[in-house]
Amino acid sequence: MNGKVYLVGAGPGDPELLTLKALRLLRSADAVLHDDLVSPQILTLVPRKAQLHDVGKRAGQKSTRQEAIHFLMIELARQGLNVVRLKGGDPLVFGRAGEEMLALREAGIEFEIVPGVTAAFTAAAAAEIPLTLRQTASSLLIMTGQFADERPLPDLRPMVKSGTTIALYMPGPDAKETVSRLVAAGVPRHTPCAIVSRASTPLQTMTVTTLGKLPSVMGYAKPAILILGAVVRRSRVDQADLRALEDELLRERSGVAAAEGREEASLA
Ligand code: SAH
Repeated sequence: MNGKVYLVGAGPGDPELLTLKALRLLRSADAVLHDDLVSPQILTLVPRKAQLHDVGKRAGQKSTRQEAIHFLMIELARQGLNVVRLKGGDPLVFGRAGEEMLALREAGIEFEIVPGVTAAFTAAAAAEIPLTLRQTASSLLIMTGQFADERPLPDLRPMVKSGTTIALYMPGPDAKETVSRLVAAGVPRHTPCAIVSRASTPLQTMTVTTLGKLPSVMGYAKPAILILGAVVRRSRVDQADLRALEDELLRERSGVAAAEGREEASLA
């Protein structure tokens, strides 16, 4: 009889952010296939007798690697093993779970998805940013800074206008480039923005700034996520600085007294 495959969210790094279900499945797994993003502390929870496969993506091999993952997952399940496919954060958020589910369905292998804590929620918790806020932000956009086919970001002006909070996954290594892509998509430079690196791990760092000033933040370590929008002003990270930066950028843009313009021109 075939085994079952569990597509499991490992959360952002801190083992305490695993769900009880994820922990139970890891402890009873016969084989675990994990991504690069899964923290070493979480991997210590895998029983010694279980097979452990690192199937993290290596540069330049994306498509073949993905097929190899499907093949391995299906083979192990056909051997009757209980397989945990462990992914950073939530498996359904930028986790290639769509392709994996399709491959499993086509192979007739039973599977189940176990949600995990995604990076946007973890970063917001770390920086104490409410992702939605009455009268300020009534929606949240989860988006990637990198498209596989390198197309530009979609038009974000309607989002900005409606006060949507934007969580930008995979912002890219070059902050200048990230800023120009976001600005080209319609996000104003004075938009408050938080960058959180390695959220929930002992190496977590965060900075609150404005989009325009992002390139002056010292290189942020991967993985990192950007949160953009008026809600960032509620962060516990230094507020005085943020006000000054917003004012400066507004002055640069309009040449008029910044304080007057701030409320109308802000993201929300
Ligand atoms: N499935 C994952 C996302 C995978 S895409 C999830 O739900 O979180 C990889 C991107 O996620 C990274 O480039 C980064 O933007 C973000 N990310 C993942 N873990 C993170 C962490 N601990 N801290 C900050 N960003 C993280």
